[in-house]
Amino acid sequence: MNGKTNERIEKFNNWIVERNPAEIEFHQAVREFAESVMPFVESNPKYDDGHILQRMVEPDRIIIFRVCWEDDHGHINCNRAWRVQFNNAIGPYKGGLRFHSNVTQSVLKFLGFEQVYKNALTGLPMGGAKGGSDFNPKGKSDREVMRFCQSLMIELSRHIGEDTDIPAGDIGVGAREISYLFGQYKRLNNRFVGTLTGKGLSYGGSLIRTEATGYGVVYFSSYMLKNIGDRLEGKTALISGSGNVAIYCAEKLLHEGAKVLTLSDSSGFIHDPDGIDEDKLSWLKELKFTERGRIGEYVTKYPNSKFYEDEKPWNIKADLAFPCATQNELDEKDAKALIANGIQLVAEGANMPSSLEAAREFHNSGVLFAPAKAANAGGVAVSGLEQTQNSLRLPWTKEEVDDRLKHIMQNIHKQCVEYGSEDAQRVNYVKGANIAGFVKVADAMLAYGIA
Ligand code: NDP
Repeated sequence: MNGKTNERIEKFNNWIVERNPAEIEFHQAVREFAESVMPFVESNPKYDDGHILQRMVEPDRIIIFRVCWEDDHGHINCNRAWRVQFNNAIGPYKGGLRFHSNVTQSVLKFLGFEQVYKNALTGLPMGGAKGGSDFNPKGKSDREVMRFCQSLMIELSRHIGEDTDIPAGDIGVGAREISYLFGQYKRLNNRFVGTLTGKGLSYGGSLIRTEATGYGVVYFSSYMLKNIGDRLEGKTALISGSGNVAIYCAEKLLHEGAKVLTLSDSSGFIHDPDGIDEDKLSWLKELKFTERGRIGEYVTKYPNSKFYEDEKPWNIKADLAFPCATQNELDEKDAKALIANGIQLVAEGANMPSSLEAAREFHNSGVLFAPAKAANAGGVAVSGLEQTQNSLRLPWTKEEVDDRLKHIMQNIHKQCVEYGSEDAQRVNYVKGANIAGFVKVADAMLAYGIA
């Protein structure tokens, strides 16, 4: 990159910071994108002349609203909720809802921004959005969660629809929450349409949707390894998180013959040197999804393992790492520890789990690095397939959905290779994913004229 391009990137990033004060997660996501895309824009005047980058970083709209609900003790609670409808150039808005105490407008803007390009990579006609609330579902009863979801949907329902905006789950929004949200949406509209995805199988959900993000991360990793003549079988893996993405990432790694050594939650991580096998994983599913227990309970059941309180798993030696918990959970120090231990591949199951500095370390050390936009697109891809099945009013088999998921992940890999190959040996997956997503959305925006 020449000095002039660097200067332009700096100027652009300073403008973003000034225009969006204190939104640090959003600044980070845009910076990563601009570093890959600016040189491409400069060498393609149609994008430069159209000021397309400046237009892309402004959401179409942000809806902010109050959500009041009554807890089990009769107290009135008040949360804040958002829907960031970022860009619908290539299809209706699509993206998850997150319930977590650390949700802010900045977090949802970074997630919505990333979602635009991720969705474009899937090849399906989906725009990008994200939403959620600072409501914390931890420790709440089912009835409290239900009342909160119903209250939230009273407002959200005015802004969404099967051809307008189709929300799904994310952190803190799983099968239970989607069911409450969809039930309320259906009641308010008196229509049964696929306006939410991640629904239960008996009311419009798709087979493989629960597994799709985790499975997709593993499919993508196997294409990366195949590209250099290698495979997953026999490799050791670190996973962070123990939610939807982490658990199904572990499951697919086991199917592929890899050995999973760690899982975590916000209280710490467990290390099982014998490997987390299928039986242990099915016990964990019950613990995490039904009993809503903590990861530390694993060591009581499997005493050969160890629990590390308030620590992250990145100091354990392994071949592969899958950060599947949350943003910025893997920093420069963690990246250096992984590299010192000979890590071969890092694939992001969570959204933006690696800090910019960590991603640079991986790039400079030649680690195969799959950014979230590409690696975790399987979830939204199968959400898109759920929408298709809802429109057709015809459910597909597990095999059919899984085959389509594999095909989509393979195609994303192909696009990364097309736009990210730096020489015959090396693919820069960050650059590849950013440019491939950018081209698709930018071309549509240009076709609409100035809007
Ligand atoms: P879940 O709520 O099912 O699980 C999240 C996991 O991450 C939990 O183990 C949770 O631990 C842990 N976690 C959350 N916040 C923190 C934190 N601040 N520090 C440490 N650990 C934390 O969410 P998902 O598995 O659905 O999502 C995980 C990531 O994957 C997110 O970044 C999400 O945006 C991304 N993603 C999810 C998709 C999906 O289909 N679900 C699709 C694409 C991306 P605890 O329970 O202790 O909070």
